[in-house]
Amino acid sequence: MTRKTRSIAVVGAGMGGLAVAATLRQVGFDVQVYEQATRFGRIGAGIQMMPNSMKVLRGIGVEERLRKIAFAPYSHLNRDAYSGEVLRELPMPDTLYGAPYLCMHRADLHEALASVLPDDIIHLNKKLAGLDQKSGQVTLSFADGSKATADAVIGADGVHSLVRDIIVGPDVPIHKGRIAYRAVFDASLMGGFDIGPSRTKWWGKDRHIVIYYITRAKSELYFVTSVPESAEWMTKESWSAKGDVTELRAAYETFHQDVRNVLNACPDCHKWAILEREPLPHWSDGRVVLLGDSAHPMTPYMAQGAATSIEDAAVLARCLKDVDGDDIEGAFKRYEAHRKPRTSVIQAISSANSWMQGGDADTSWLYGYDAWGADLDRPASN
Ligand code: FAD
Repeated sequence: MTRKTRSIAVVGAGMGGLAVAATLRQVGFDVQVYEQATRFGRIGAGIQMMPNSMKVLRGIGVEERLRKIAFAPYSHLNRDAYSGEVLRELPMPDTLYGAPYLCMHRADLHEALASVLPDDIIHLNKKLAGLDQKSGQVTLSFADGSKATADAVIGADGVHSLVRDIIVGPDVPIHKGRIAYRAVFDASLMGGFDIGPSRTKWWGKDRHIVIYYITRAKSELYFVTSVPESAEWMTKESWSAKGDVTELRAAYETFHQDVRNVLNACPDCHKWAILEREPLPHWSDGRVVLLGDSAHPMTPYMAQGAATSIEDAAVLARCLKDVDGDDIEGAFKRYEAHRKPRTSVIQAISSANSWMQGGDADTSWLYGYDAWGADLDRPASN
């Protein structure tokens, strides 16, 4: 007897949503993706993809495309913000963890993920408004009044997830009065100054900045900071909020000349409120499950938010494949049992902002993890 093809609705077409749509299609599910945005914009931001997520992207079939356009840093370089002293350097050849370390424009990663999906499974302008589970089916209601049904729903709707609010309860962010300035700009504005072959994190007393190229040709660079900010400033994470480049430069005026060269060349910037959250008590309810930032939102300090969302995608598809689409609830529990210990540790280290500041702590559990091969009956490495 041939089994019925199971239908899965994914809410959110961000990094996690597109990745899980790709992995689920690979194992034979009928996937539809519902995204609130009316189009995909090119948000000015870079993104680091470490070997742990690059292994998943390899399995999805986009590694070669990314290698052609992304910058491959020589190392993770950590330097003292004032003296420039090297605190810790980890060279990152492909051979170290079996996959490359690539830095790219966020939009290039998003486009690569979208390129492996048929256009007609991504439904834009579909803002989820509610979910209803009945008789082994989930009905999705959208803000435009339309409805859809599926055998299961994946909430990949990001840090402000409605799916999380529905199945776990309202979000409780912790405000610590910090923001991230960020900018992508043309390297030609640097007047010949080269930031070097590495992704460099400059560690100051109460603030830091991470700087790297985002194209293979070194034609664009990106930085992202963490800096104290008055509590009156907006408290919701937003990709569109503008920052003041004069304030930004003032916040880093005591930093090393290399950093000031970058900030002086930077024409414009955005800012993002950095909020923190505790791990959730559970990730699923019946046939609805969370993935990515909706399940384990974290500060950006370890560059693992999208990476862990992409890891989730591989593991969730493996769990559903193993039950042949039947015990969906059991597959969701197995996914959570494997993934949550790992993402909870990453959330905690990200919150402390201590990753690779110095010392020689082991990095293999993080970058060496292989979501395609990991033993699903044990907690993921941490
Ligand atoms: P998102 O990418 O946020 O996608 C969620 C999607 O759901 C969006 O498209 C949204 O429009 C949609 N949506 C929301 N609500 C609804 C609804 N009701 N109905 C329909 N659609 C909806 N991670 C890394 O791995 N490496 C990095 O270098 C890195 N740098 C970062 C730098 C900064 C400044 C920040 C803020 C984050 C960084 N991250 C990084 C983290 C990364 O951006 C997130 O973890 C990642 O985008 C999460 O993916 P996601 O798919 O879960 O959510």
